[in-house]
Amino acid sequence: MPDFDHLIAGAGFAGAVCARQLAEGGRRVLLIDRRSLPGGNAADVLDAHGVRIHPHGPHIFHTNSERVFRYLSRFTDWRFYEHRVLCEVGGQLLPLPINRLTLNRLYGLDLDEAQAEAHLARVRLPRPALRSSEDVVLASVGHDLCERFFRGYTQKQWGLDLSELSAGVAARIPTRSNDDDRYFSDRWQFMPAAGYSALFDRLLDHPGIDWRPGTAYESVRGLGLAPHTVYTGPVDAYFGHCLGALPYRSIRFEHEHLPDIARFQATGTVNYPNTRAYTRITEFRHLTGQTGAGTSIVREFPQAQGEPYYPIPRAENEALYQRYAALAAAEHSVSFVGRLAQYRYYNMDQVVAAALKLGDTLLRQTTAQS
Ligand code: FAD
Ligand code: UDP
Repeated sequence: MPDFDHLIAGAGFAGAVCARQLAEGGRRVLLIDRRSLPGGNAADVLDAHGVRIHPHGPHIFHTNSERVFRYLSRFTDWRFYEHRVLCEVGGQLLPLPINRLTLNRLYGLDLDEAQAEAHLARVRLPRPALRSSEDVVLASVGHDLCERFFRGYTQKQWGLDLSELSAGVAARIPTRSNDDDRYFSDRWQFMPAAGYSALFDRLLDHPGIDWRPGTAYESVRGLGLAPHTVYTGPVDAYFGHCLGALPYRSIRFEHEHLPDIARFQATGTVNYPNTRAYTRITEFRHLTGQTGAGTSIVREFPQAQGEPYYPIPRAENEALYQRYAALAAAEHSVSFVGRLAQYRYYNMDQVVAAALKLGDTLLRQTTAQS
């Protein structure tokens, strides 16, 4: 008889939340990850100078889901933080999402909110359908703002033109005619007060969870450790890339500590749509609220090769994913959940929601064990 009811591969939000949910339902869970720390890409660490940084890219929590917010609140206190982003455009630092202030500073105008709305209405280009990210941007801010804020950044981030990406990518960024300069519009915007890794330590702290870091799924696959598996790694890798490799976008993170500087930049993130080789710089102390001497920043250099960080949302990739999804649906003793396993450009809260839903479903089902 296997020792566990569920083997969970991957201890990011997808795997860790699912593990906790199942353990609280009385199931015995073996949770593995090939990395040495839980948290997946959301994990944080202290750098050599004691500054809390996010080695896999800056993570800011935001959600409109009360269930997700309440659920995570069991495992962390929160620090109020609303993320703000400036874009270097034409030698100025301008707020993104584009809002009234962006328009006034960029064009040397003095528009009130109604006039800003009228300006946007005038420059918007009607599109017959919003299929690509180019359609979305042109339909919301027109040609000039598209070129200044979106086309170059998108080319750097994805190695693709806006017209080659699905609408949902650019649709992540709203357009505003008021002075709201918050990057996100969600109801709940916070950072875990003691960091993400502390949140994960509490998530995993349950007698029903056996946590084994440094363990690749491939090394335990087929050993019969549990009658059911939750897999949160790349779906194409699970199937040995038998239908071809799904494309992912990677990033090289260049971290730097500046010992003599109290504050490097005015906002958490500054984007560089048209200049520099990197897309953005994030200064962690804005996000974490940590004080003290020195500050740590990260520059993001997108690249094709490396750790699979982003699924690339475009029609041909979705078509290939759907073929993998059909194979996944036929794996009756395996559930696939998370950003890589579902090939979805999910934020953290969407992954938590998907994991809770899967946990609910699995707890309604009986396993060979229970
Ligand atoms: P992951 O976090 O990728 O975890 C998967 C885990 O599975 C990893 O730990 C991996 O090591 C493990 N694994 C994979 N394959 C195997 C295997 N074969 N064997 C063992 N283990 C395996 N979201 C937000 O809400 N706000 C943000 O500000 C934000 N910023 C982001 C910035 C960047 C640069 C990136 C890349 C993502 C960002 N996200 C953000 C998205 C967020 O990271 C994800 O939504 C979330 O962390 C995904 O959780 P997951 O568990 O699905 O996947
Ligand atoms: N984007 C852009 N210019 C910017 C910021 C974003 O063109 O200054 C576009 C780009 O295509 C990017 C997408 O909007 O990939 C989503 O941006 P977001 O900041 O949500 O990306 P993430 O934080 O997930 O990398």
